[in-house]
Amino acid sequence: LHVPLMTLSQLRINSERLRDDFEELSQIGATPDGGICRLALSLEDLEARAWFANRIEEAGFLIHDDDTGNLSGVLPSDNRDAKTLLMGSHLDTVLNGGRYDGAIGLLAALECLRTIKESGVDLPVHLEVIDFTDDEGAWQPMLGSKGLTGLLAPENLKDSRGDHAAFRAALTRAGLNIQDVFKAKRDPNSILAYLEMHIEQNVRLENMGIDIGVVTNIVGRTAFYITYEGQARHSGTTSMRERQDALQGAALFVTRAHEMVRTHYTEGVLNCGNIEVKPGALSIVPSEARLTVECRHVNPDLLNHIEQSLSELAQECADYCRLGVHIQRIDHMPAASMAMPVIHAIEVACTTVGVTHHRIPSYASHNAQILSRITPSGMLFIPSVNGVSHNPSEYSHWEDVVNGANTLLHAALHLALNGVE
Ligand SMILES: [Zn+2]
Repeated sequence: LHVPLMTLSQLRINSERLRDDFEELSQIGATPDGGICRLALSLEDLEARAWFANRIEEAGFLIHDDDTGNLSGVLPSDNRDAKTLLMGSHLDTVLNGGRYDGAIGLLAALECLRTIKESGVDLPVHLEVIDFTDDEGAWQPMLGSKGLTGLLAPENLKDSRGDHAAFRAALTRAGLNIQDVFKAKRDPNSILAYLEMHIEQNVRLENMGIDIGVVTNIVGRTAFYITYEGQARHSGTTSMRERQDALQGAALFVTRAHEMVRTHYTEGVLNCGNIEVKPGALSIVPSEARLTVECRHVNPDLLNHIEQSLSELAQECADYCRLGVHIQRIDHMPAASMAMPVIHAIEVACTTVGVTHHRIPSYASHNAQILSRITPSGMLFIPSVNGVSHNPSEYSHWEDVVNGANTLLHAALHLALNGVE
């Protein structure tokens, strides 16, 4: 350490430099309504990565990429055997998303590294800012962090429609080879911890008037298809009592499932996001109705419980409407706890920076959820105006962004200097 700790606690990020980065990055994939469309591995995403690579080089960091396309800048420690403190988020967005989700956390981490480099402090860990590929799941949710942690499975290399070829083409466009993606796995012992700043995407901080949300755990999520099978018949000549209407079963399920989660699982959430009806004609009784259903809970036991209750309910609705029903689980992301030493580091950082904080769970999935399986991980949230996210009107006050970035800076310093014991 060449810089006294006293001075270190006064260190702050350069707000204007961060803002300039943010404005520039927000041009890439910009939509006319003020949003962003940078689907993972799209040309816009690749352009954003090229831009980010330039920022890394400009700042004098080592550039690093891996076989799942994760792109990083490294500020190395003088100790070559040091562990790495990873700080990251993602450049990709959902279809017509906002400017802050992912991008602001990644840029804040980059700014933290620049600030630390300029301070001249020599830390006993390598610092690495990392953009994780396909957080949002244009192809495979959390592809990059799954690759890095070794949690990528061969079945993850198909897109949601089971298509191998389109995914391979997208990887090729990004200069990646589908055979090599498993090589992105890193030795967990080389990583000290993972730290991420993100927008809250919720109204809790705003309503409480709190500056920083310290994430305690990240919600578990299960998604499935529920398919009702009835009989296609003439809609006029089949009496109401005779018909086996698949859509009726699905509709009954949707209504009752919402009621059930609201009543019995107050911290759980449910979404029936889509329905496909066959044959889908005006004068034919529906023979098939396929629902997409997703449920989330921060408590793994209760998530299992919801899932069980939903499948029982699906059967009850089928029986009531004299239908067949088929349930297929399509995705499961286990709930994750953030590590106490990282939570603690973020809270200490809030005190150093002089901002208020409150512990909250996250109801959205994040890369920290994946990283937490191999290394102590933590997240801090900044307030989202009106809780809006995945929408062009996503917005956070700049003051909150700066508070978040400074908290990230001091949480990183705390972890680098004190470790995770
Ligand atoms: Zn995100």
